[in-house]
Amino acid sequence: MARTTKDIINEAEEIVRDLSLKQVSTWKEETGGKAVGCMPVWSPRELLHAANILPVGIVGGGDGVEIIKGDAYFQSYICQIPRSTIELGLNGSLSPLDGMIFPSICDVIRNLSGMWKLLFPETPAWYLDMPQSFDAIGVEFFSHELSRLLGEFAEVSGHLPTNDELNESISLYNINRSLIEELYDKRRKAPWCFPVSEGYLVIRAGYQLDVESHNRMLREYIDAAANSDAKAIDNARVVVVGSFCEQPPLNLIRTIERSGCYVVEDDFTLGSRLIKGAIATEGDAVENLARAFVEQSREAAFIYREEEKGKELVEKTKTCNAEGILCCAPSFCDPALLDQPMIVSAIEKSGIPYTSFKYAENTGQFQVIREQTGTFADSIKLWSQE
Ligand code: SF4
Repeated sequence: MARTTKDIINEAEEIVRDLSLKQVSTWKEETGGKAVGCMPVWSPRELLHAANILPVGIVGGGDGVEIIKGDAYFQSYICQIPRSTIELGLNGSLSPLDGMIFPSICDVIRNLSGMWKLLFPETPAWYLDMPQSFDAIGVEFFSHELSRLLGEFAEVSGHLPTNDELNESISLYNINRSLIEELYDKRRKAPWCFPVSEGYLVIRAGYQLDVESHNRMLREYIDAAANSDAKAIDNARVVVVGSFCEQPPLNLIRTIERSGCYVVEDDFTLGSRLIKGAIATEGDAVENLARAFVEQSREAAFIYREEEKGKELVEKTKTCNAEGILCCAPSFCDPALLDQPMIVSAIEKSGIPYTSFKYAENTGQFQVIREQTGTFADSIKLWSQE
């Protein structure tokens, strides 16, 4: 019998809230494979999958871990995610992992990678140097970087994948990306049937599931939610931007919804959909992956292209008929907060209403945010009507 959305969401939430990675341990026992943690935002999951390694998205401890030792490693003016990640490492929650990838998105992650090597010398920790040139040189550089990593992944798992195996893995992740896009597309059309808090959980569960299982969960959820009998209400359609790395607490996302907003586009769990469209599956798989990152990645605070910042955000807001933008960034997140003046300038030029606020992954008080986003939604409904 087909499961209801409630059943699927309950399962997804249980996976997301399980900081001890039980799902990952089970996968390892059943398959004999290895597992590698991937810090935000993006890691070459296709290479890991082909090497028989489960890529596990690590996004800190959210509101589920008490920081006891983690604070000692970072200054007070640093975001929350590295503290809770260190805490999870020290309390043994991440012990199912056979390695960790730290992408070069900011100084905090760079420093965390160094600390990891000192704290856990027995576990491989890879620093993933991302391209700074978004052209042919960037593709060449990143192909070398990914090839280097692939060799090191193979040493961990004992399996160096062939080019055909790599292309098969890319195909599976292409299906994953297209299912996630289908979910976003359906949410844009009928956000009352596809609430953002549900979609968030179903996508985020994929951080711990193998891609085949995640594809099944996405398909099942999309089909179940499409049959929802929820009725549209007069909410404001908004885009959320700034939450690409440290994730807001689930209750903050629910608070935004309950305050009268339909979130029709966002950058939560951005790694799952950073690459737009399908990645080529003919020819050199590593080069195709590098090229996709350089040529097909979305606008994001940690990516420095020459194009005007905020342009894609404004276009996206218009194409999904959103009426406003919520700039919702983690406290002390340098990339997001340095980006904000540039994107705000683009938003102001476009005339789209916006408001901004900050959070931490363990924020527990939502009333102020509820009042702010609720007032924002009301003002859109009252004063943005033609
Ligand atoms: S939240 Fe921002 S500053 Fe902190 S690790 Fe992520 S990108 Fe870096």
